[in-house]
Amino acid sequence: MTAAPQTRLLIIGPPGAGKGTQASRIVERFGVPWISTGDIFRANIKAGTPLGQRVSQLIEAGKLVPDELTNEIVEDRLRHEDVSSGFLLDGYPRTVDQVHALDRVLESDARALDAVVLLEVDTDEVVARLLKRAEIEGRVDDTEEVIRHRQQVYAEQTQPLVELFGDRGILIAVDGLGSVDDVSDRIFAALDAKLEPKTAA
Ligand code: AMP
Repeated sequence: MTAAPQTRLLIIGPPGAGKGTQASRIVERFGVPWISTGDIFRANIKAGTPLGQRVSQLIEAGKLVPDELTNEIVEDRLRHEDVSSGFLLDGYPRTVDQVHALDRVLESDARALDAVVLLEVDTDEVVARLLKRAEIEGRVDDTEEVIRHRQQVYAEQTQPLVELFGDRGILIAVDGLGSVDDVSDRIFAALDAKLEPKTAA
């Protein structure tokens, strides 16, 4: 039996770029599970699990959870049956080491990422968005100081991934400014163009 086609996607961008909103649209359109490491950590904190207790202070301070721990969680998640149609990773990988860990997990199954959506937004715009989200959602890591720190962590640890995925020829840069619909239209058009040769093959 031939394996069903898979769509393995990643969405990346600075905190506040609108990744969560766009991720929910992408998973709906492609019918793949949404794997958000931030959501996994927040759910564990809320449920008071040992993992939640281990990561809560780091998350509140806007610091990254250690690679080893994060890699283990994603590796475990990618072994679930529901990723047979593919997946959308949101917020992972976030460091070069995490990219290598993900490569190893996917390679062991002869898989690889098909496309990486980069949501591009201006830093001032992003900080304004996050401060607004803080009022609405009350996330503990949405204070101005933590927001600044998270932007800095992104610039230092995650920004290098843009070049890395660009070199692999799977990066799709999308302008993240505008209405939610405008941005998702841009994402879908770019993804369709990128994935078309594969589905036509
Ligand atoms: P997010 O919802 O993706 O913005 O993630 C919220 C927080 O969870 C981050 O600021 C980190 O503290 C932690 N986190 C999420 N994903 C990762 C990751 N891939 N590596 C390390 N820490 C992460």
